[in-house]
Amino acid sequence: MKGQTQSFLEDLHGLFYFNAQDARDIMLRFHSEMGLGLTGKESSLKMIPSFVRRPKGKEKGSFLAIDLGGTNIRVLAVSLDGKGRAEPLAISRYPISHEAMTGTGDMFFDFIAESMESFFKEHQIDAKRLQGLGFTFSFPVVQSSIASGRLISWTKGFSASGVEGEDVVELLTRALKRRNMGFIEVAALINDTVGTLVAKSYANPACDMGVILGTGTNAAYPEKTGRITKYKGPRHPDEMIINIEWGGFNKIRRNIYDETLDRGSFNPGEQRMEKMVSGMYLGEIARLIIMDMVKEGLLLNPHIHHAFSEPYRLTAEHLSLAEQGQFFNELGLIQVPQEDREIILEVFRLVSGRSARIAATAISAVITWMDKKMDSSHVIAIDGSLFEKYPNYRENMEAMLREIFGDSAGKIKLEKEMDGSGIGAAITAAIASSPWDKSLIARLSSLRCR
Ligand code: ADP
Ligand code: MG
Repeated sequence: MKGQTQSFLEDLHGLFYFNAQDARDIMLRFHSEMGLGLTGKESSLKMIPSFVRRPKGKEKGSFLAIDLGGTNIRVLAVSLDGKGRAEPLAISRYPISHEAMTGTGDMFFDFIAESMESFFKEHQIDAKRLQGLGFTFSFPVVQSSIASGRLISWTKGFSASGVEGEDVVELLTRALKRRNMGFIEVAALINDTVGTLVAKSYANPACDMGVILGTGTNAAYPEKTGRITKYKGPRHPDEMIINIEWGGFNKIRRNIYDETLDRGSFNPGEQRMEKMVSGMYLGEIARLIIMDMVKEGLLLNPHIHHAFSEPYRLTAEHLSLAEQGQFFNELGLIQVPQEDREIILEVFRLVSGRSARIAATAISAVITWMDKKMDSSHVIAIDGSLFEKYPNYRENMEAMLREIFGDSAGKIKLEKEMDGSGIGAAITAAIASSPWDKSLIARLSSLRCR
């Protein structure tokens, strides 16, 4: 390898690597932002109250769930046995049409109602026998109770008119009425992080965090109600799940590639941590580095830039496949000298390794916020293809946890929870329908919380 290339890679290592002491500094800043967010002061962590506690595992019955992600809507009927087992009775997936995404709000919510109608027909389900609906809506929403929340702004290419600023539960309820399904009660509105935490903790009470590592990244944890000082409601139940919205964390040092990516993004200045961690951006960071190397003449193959010149062409999936030894063909890079391959792989490892280390650092911050001295065990439920499929991603996270906590890292278990956004919604509907929580919700309905 050329001396110049060697020194470029060493510099790159300096830009992307951070040690345990840096991680502890990040954790302190994370704590400070969490504190500000819980008081309602200006903070890069929104700390959104979800108005729901963790399940007790005893919730029972059959519930409906809608999981509205980025490209599909899933409708589920889920049975809860009251002993920690949640089982889907039926699941259907319907692709969200372009018209529904970009037409009027009525068209969008009619599409959801129609999907439910098809679901009932397809599985010959009598909707009246199900108990309530949990609605996972993975867009930024400010909730005012467990079953109401206003969309702040659309993301992921959605633009249906007349929805921003409105209560999405109310809009869904109206659409259900238009289709003669007014008897279906929307019992809970949740975020996918909350769903992930709720789904895992139904079976395992040691679970106290839900994390998403997919297209985006975010997390939720149970907070002591008394510590959420911006929330003026009753102090019982004594815990409430908080949607951190940690993708927005901005007290983290960025390098020149992070800054370039941010400037060219559709939301400059926002979602800074997400842009360093999540699947949507990893390929683009790597691409910017490779283009830099091409410009400096550090790669042997002069054709490489064709494959890397188009923004966002290189994806997290490419990086992931490359680290498993297959990728160069797909990008039309059959004759890449071995030396270039190794250099490119080193770049990918630096980018994905940093992502995993930041994710582990943020998890550590939340754990030490809940449990300062690490007295208890913690099960972290994680959903998302980045965590599930990227080679060594989990190992990199675990290495960072060991660097931060030493032997105590053994108290932290990272566990996959792949269907939180569906199952978790049904369980949340069950929690919301329990008589005790119901009376609480009635009392809460007039409350406001920033
Ligand atoms: P979502 O976050 O939209 O709910 P996923 O959890 O499946 O969905 O995450 C999808 C994201 O995961 C993709 O945008 C991509 O960045 C990343 N991804 C997809 N396939 C892989 C893979 N094989 N290895 C690593 N990351 C992947
Ligand atoms: Mg998801």
